[in-house]
Amino acid sequence: MEQVHETVLEIDLKALKHNFQYLKTRVQPNTKVLAVVKAFAYGNDAAEIARYLENLEVDYFAVAYTQEGVALRDAGIKTPILVLHPQSANFKTLIARCLEPSLYSHFVLREFIAVAEAEKQHHYPVHIKFNTGLNRLGFDPQDVASVVTSLKKTESVIAKSIFSHLAASEDLREKLFTNNQIKTFTSISETFTAAIGYKPMLHLCNTSGILNYPEAHFDMVRSGIGLYGFGNSEKEDVHFKPIASLKTIISQIHTIPKGASVGYNRAFIASKKTTTATIPIGHADGIGRQYGNGKACVFVNNKPAPIIGNVCMDMIMIDITGISCQEGDEVIVFNQAHTAHSFAQGVNSISYEIITAISQRVKRVFLK
Ligand SMILES: *Cc1c(COP(=O)(O)O)cnc(C)c1O
Repeated sequence: MEQVHETVLEIDLKALKHNFQYLKTRVQPNTKVLAVVKAFAYGNDAAEIARYLENLEVDYFAVAYTQEGVALRDAGIKTPILVLHPQSANFKTLIARCLEPSLYSHFVLREFIAVAEAEKQHHYPVHIKFNTGLNRLGFDPQDVASVVTSLKKTESVIAKSIFSHLAASEDLREKLFTNNQIKTFTSISETFTAAIGYKPMLHLCNTSGILNYPEAHFDMVRSGIGLYGFGNSEKEDVHFKPIASLKTIISQIHTIPKGASVGYNRAFIASKKTTTATIPIGHADGIGRQYGNGKACVFVNNKPAPIIGNVCMDMIMIDITGISCQEGDEVIVFNQAHTAHSFAQGVNSISYEIITAISQRVKRVFLK
């Protein structure tokens, strides 16, 4: 890990391998693993991450939107890709690029079958999503019969899997609720499989589901945040290594007297003689305004330096009073020791939000 000269997101592919292999130890050897690489693989660069995981023989990928799947195909990814929220305007592209849609309502099912028939498809793989309590996307449990009827009327598609998504798998206080989702999903799967006459793959668990509900892994599990190094609890975090480090440098140091202000709208007023550093990362890079005004710290020579005043578009100012450092020194926003999770906690946010927020302007550097 070299001293940086600009803001970079350093991505440790060995840590990714560690997380992937660790997750595999938490599932049965015959359980498939799907890697969720939506949102640029949670901010890390989807093509690079997918290529690496493909070499590790991951079974499946998922993205949220069709264009994310197209980008992976353009990058040469051959592994099956499930598109979680494909949107009917993209169905022709989706078929052309061998992407597999999640179909979650009678409307999208009808639309997809129409496109698949027009494109002369035979048994095109689709994934049927059921709503078991998240109330986001999915057929209702009582839709099983009508879905099966629609599927049986056409040769153009085949249900490669049926799946659902847990609402609170990381929250053990919601165990009763989650167990109910598992029960509902089990019962949907049984009815569906009996009615359709073949066996689609079944999958339900995200990362916390994998860790907390081993009895609910079914045929495949879907991990996003775990691959990127977070276990969503203190107990599980120790098994994972965050793969991304956000590093920057000190652009300039100022020493200001008591009463002087820092930044736009004079939001910080020095209560004593203060040393500040300006660093080249701002809200356009993903550090939202909520991180300003002392709510979050970055690290300079391993010492916490609070972000002071308002976050600017391209820069933030930090209080380095008492920290021995100079212009050009490295600044850690988050890494394995000072995690994105703890950075986000300061503003009541979560690892998912800060890591996916780091904008494309920040250069990605891969440690192989
Ligand atoms: C994003 C997503 C996942 C991954 O969840 P993690 O908590 O990051 O493991 C799994 N399944 C679906 C349907 C998702 O939308």
